[in-house]
Amino acid sequence: MATTGSSETEAAIRLPDPCLVVLVGPSGSGKSHWADANFPAGRVLSSDRMRALVGEHEHDQRAGTDAFAVLDLVLERRLKRRLFTVVDTLGLEAKRRQGYVALARRHRVPVVAITFDTPAGECRARNARRSRPVPPKVLAAQLKSWPDVVAALTDEGFDRIHHGPAPVRVVDPSMLNAPAAARRQQENPVPLDFGLHVANFTWPGGPAELGRRLATVAQAAEEAGFTHLSVMDHFLQIPVVGRRWDEMLDGYTALGYVAACTSKLKLLTLVTGITYRNVAHLGKIIATLDVLSGGRAMAGLGAAWNEDEHQAYGWPFPPVKERFALLEDALRVLPMMWGPGAPPFRGKAIDVPETICYPRPVQERVPILVGGGGEKKTLRLVAKYADACNLFGDVENVRHKLDVLREHCEDVGRDPAAIGVTQLSSVVVTDGPPPEHLAARTTAGTVEDHIGRYRELAEAGVQTAFVRMPDLGDPGAIARFAPVIEAFRPA
Ligand code: GDP
Ligand code: MG
Repeated sequence: MATTGSSETEAAIRLPDPCLVVLVGPSGSGKSHWADANFPAGRVLSSDRMRALVGEHEHDQRAGTDAFAVLDLVLERRLKRRLFTVVDTLGLEAKRRQGYVALARRHRVPVVAITFDTPAGECRARNARRSRPVPPKVLAAQLKSWPDVVAALTDEGFDRIHHGPAPVRVVDPSMLNAPAAARRQQENPVPLDFGLHVANFTWPGGPAELGRRLATVAQAAEEAGFTHLSVMDHFLQIPVVGRRWDEMLDGYTALGYVAACTSKLKLLTLVTGITYRNVAHLGKIIATLDVLSGGRAMAGLGAAWNEDEHQAYGWPFPPVKERFALLEDALRVLPMMWGPGAPPFRGKAIDVPETICYPRPVQERVPILVGGGGEKKTLRLVAKYADACNLFGDVENVRHKLDVLREHCEDVGRDPAAIGVTQLSSVVVTDGPPPEHLAARTTAGTVEDHIGRYRELAEAGVQTAFVRMPDLGDPGAIARFAPVIEAFRPA
């Protein structure tokens, strides 16, 4: 458990990326100072700076209307792009604040108010020291209205109101409540298994060192307590991970190799596109993996999506309806391939005259995992046939998909508890609070952030978390993740 730094993170204001931050406080309360100290200049929209842009200087009162017009325009455009933005104005006018809240809602960006409750005397003293002070009467009016402003804020629709100034941490939205969730995990641990998802093989040393490095990664993963190792079933690197010409290993060959280098990891693809191979041949491959690994294979299956690879290799890429028919056939025929006898199979998309496969797998039943959260087709097939599902996304998404899956289960008379719940996400573990460029839209955070995040996923029903680490080429990546696994191990 990460105790170091936890007091620091608890004291910090955690802001999700993206979000709109509205500063609220009288002149001299320290808003601009705090904004400058905590954010790169490009993320802060300051009405004073806008005054300097459209008027003569930062305190050009005659430029106020134009300054706000420009600020509002820039804010709109930034929120449209879902960019993290701090609005540094007085924030004392209810109408303006409500406008900001409405704008953020419209763009589905969380909106947070930060109040600067600096003692009146301090505001006056700072104001007096300014080269262009606000007229004392104006400041006095601001200070007088302050208690009413603070009271009004609570009903204005802000997602959160923080009282500044305080240090800030910009975090992935999935880590917003991590400190509290990590505390729950520490006090009342729940179990969660972890799988290492190796999606990228572009590592130092290139192809000549790849085999040795993959062995090292797999062994380190097993050592660190990962229970599963998965690879993609792709032939060219996919756009969300890297470049088309980046190294990509054949999935099942790589798993066969990993089987030889390890002794406990369960091995699977996340997930095999059902269109890539003759399905009976796929059954043969997975049976072989199961035998050679001593019963550690799982069958990860999906309806396939990457038309590009099909075109490159000359594979047919049938319409989605046919791909799902093929997937359903596979879900039915694979257990026949692995089971006793060799009965013929007649499916919607394929026939297998002899479901013959010797040796049969070591496992009585090779677990079948179906990847994807498609609500009408994929989760229906999970309910009917699969031993596990694999979902993406945040806690809310996982909860929703599991609700849908439960409905399908009820429909087809399956016990939902019989279906394992797995989830896949990209993870970077950093030693300290990650730099903002990393925290922005990657799931980068400290050990505590990740423990909290996974605790919430476990509470939502996830039993196995597959972890893709973009920095897996760095030998320290697995060691940095190990304390997260540790926190979810039964005592
Ligand atoms: P604003 O009107 O709320 O934006 O206030 P500023 O951020 O411009 O702060 C007014 C003055 O107080 C500036 O000279 C700041 O340098 C100073 N100031 C603001 N916050 C702090 C603080 O936390 N500590 C100290 N020592 N000075 C501060
Ligand atoms: Mg200011």
